[in-house]
Amino acid sequence: MLYTSTRDKSIRVESAEAIAHGISKEGGLFVPVEIPKISLDDIQRLVNCSYIERAKEILSLYLTDFSEEELDYCVNGAYAEGRFSDKKVAPLYTLNDKAEILELWKGPTCAFKDMALQLLPYLLTVASSKSAPDKEIVILVATSGDTGKAALEGFKDVPKTKILVFYPEDGVSPMQKLQMTTQEGANVGVCAIEGNFDDAQSGVKKIFTDKAVADKLESMGMMFSSANSINWGRLVPQIVYYVSAYCDMLEKGKIKLGDEINVVVPTGNFGNILAAYYAKEMGVPIKKLVCASNANDVLTEFLSTGNYNRKRDFYTTISPSMDILISSNLERLLFLLSDMNDEAVSKWMNELNAEGKYSVDEAVFDKIKALFEAGCCDDKGTKATIANVFDEYKYLCDTHTAVAVAVYNDYVHVTADETPTVIASTANPYKFSASVLDAVRPGITEGMDEFDMVLGLHVETGAECPPQLANLKGKTPRFTNCCKKEDMEAVVFEMLSK
Ligand SMILES: *Cc1c(COP(=O)(O)O)cnc(C)c1O
Repeated sequence: MLYTSTRDKSIRVESAEAIAHGISKEGGLFVPVEIPKISLDDIQRLVNCSYIERAKEILSLYLTDFSEEELDYCVNGAYAEGRFSDKKVAPLYTLNDKAEILELWKGPTCAFKDMALQLLPYLLTVASSKSAPDKEIVILVATSGDTGKAALEGFKDVPKTKILVFYPEDGVSPMQKLQMTTQEGANVGVCAIEGNFDDAQSGVKKIFTDKAVADKLESMGMMFSSANSINWGRLVPQIVYYVSAYCDMLEKGKIKLGDEINVVVPTGNFGNILAAYYAKEMGVPIKKLVCASNANDVLTEFLSTGNYNRKRDFYTTISPSMDILISSNLERLLFLLSDMNDEAVSKWMNELNAEGKYSVDEAVFDKIKALFEAGCCDDKGTKATIANVFDEYKYLCDTHTAVAVAVYNDYVHVTADETPTVIASTANPYKFSASVLDAVRPGITEGMDEFDMVLGLHVETGAECPPQLANLKGKTPRFTNCCKKEDMEAVVFEMLSK
């Protein structure tokens, strides 16, 4: 399996190089030149397998330059017993007779980013030992909250790596902030920026693609790589859990082999839902991919009109990991749906950069319409959904998951589509205690601090707070720096010189 770039389809690299570099040198994203297939028989066989076995099989189709021993080492390490608090790793919770909640937050940082970021450090160290054996890898991350912590946790004290994380100062929840600012490890750095997530992401992308920066790093024996979902090594582990969820639906008797399911995904950077698209193209019987957004509804508009326009108000919402107006992974979808038209993709991305908008052609839009449904939900609707789901099912969901549930309910209301559905649940509710508690008991949070609210949420709902969040109480932050977005490059070199 070889990989090409969304902005230059003449490029051919192996997966190790795609993962070690993160982004292609002309600014495009790496994608496999074809999508491997799995048959219904394969799926049936995987029903009786563990998550680790399922992961090995799916990853082996994409990472063909990794030996079997290397893949074993990576996957066994990432999903080893005890790393995830549920032995199924990504279990399904039955909400009602039509909808299953795919809980992707059983990992060490309680958000779905762990699904990929527990594996990525293994993939990256194996990949760089193949494609850049003498280099120290510098991981640069822009985060809307969850990626930062999950990446820090995945990469802390991994030999021959350093990791630096930038987050928007006022754009993450107090728990997310505390998780990052208290991070341990000798090879880690964390810095807030004055700006929003898109500023952080654009800043990181600019540093990444700056030739002078790359040369300077080279002279220090280092090279950048990315732990954001622009890195193929982030995306490929996410395909696994959609295959796995289908197997679990079969195992639970919710569907018969070959039956179609719908998938609903609370979306920000378009990584998670793109992984579901890959699973569908591989052969998992998925009918509709439902893209759920919060008040930042740029994707809802795009998927229903073909016009992408980031020139709009930016909202800081109670689902901060989806507060994004530039969804990077959409570029991969456009490349695939335009039959690998690198020129068109480059043109659209340049327009997005220069004018803040672009429109895809009709052929691409027709494909989008056939594959996707999209909807959005504001903070009020999000809180109402948390309350309703709790009242009706005694199930507590976080703010991001609630956006997906709300959009799913709307979709069913409008279409009367009764297809069994998997709703991706992306974070533990205790990461967003204030909003979740206020949703189930409006007004009660007044005067409470973060950990009063954790306790309050437990008292009111009976849900358990994961120990790794509860234990943050009283910890002193280690990283308190905040910089201007123009100064990010200087901060990078300052952190690297330590
Ligand atoms: C990152 C994140 C999302 C958005 O996922 P994308 O792959 O960026 O679309 C949704 N919910 C939570 C909790 C997240 O951390």
